[in-house]
Amino acid sequence: MLVNATHIAYLHTCNRKLWLFSHGIQMEHTSDIVSEGKLIGETSYSDRSEKYTELQLGNVKIDFYDARNKVVHEVKKSDKVEGAHIAQVKYYLYRLRQAGVNGAIGIIEYPKLRQREEVLLAEKDIHAICGWEADIQRICESDICPAVIHAQICKSCSYQDFCYVGEED
Ligand code: SF4
Repeated sequence: MLVNATHIAYLHTCNRKLWLFSHGIQMEHTSDIVSEGKLIGETSYSDRSEKYTELQLGNVKIDFYDARNKVVHEVKKSDKVEGAHIAQVKYYLYRLRQAGVNGAIGIIEYPKLRQREEVLLAEKDIHAICGWEADIQRICESDICPAVIHAQICKSCSYQDFCYVGEED
């Protein structure tokens, strides 16, 4: 199985979400929250899109890459900085490094927070990312779907209806 950035983000969100996604069960297109996130990404960068190109690295696509300055840009609609976002961008930097681009950095924009988070790839991250990839393989290749996590994030997850079918609010 080829690991991509969505797998990495989901590993840092919920193992069940990762498993469902890897088994072709996708509900993101029905989510207003995801649509809103995409809209924020499009509108925030519409005036400076020329600086960035879309970069395909095998099975990984970076939407906004500034090749001149070696900067990966990512826009998140979230109202808080999340570990999953940072992990996703570190993975982009890791894949860039594998492709021979050393020293790239990431910048995550949070328009709702009017905040930006800088992401760097340290040597210890590379070891951790190898572990993430192994964890993803193990979870996705299991025949057993991980249990519902009953966490706050379930309220904004596109799989909420799927996971809590038959349960009262
Ligand atoms: S609703 Fe909760 S348990 Fe289900 S996939 Fe989403 S985060 Fe995981």
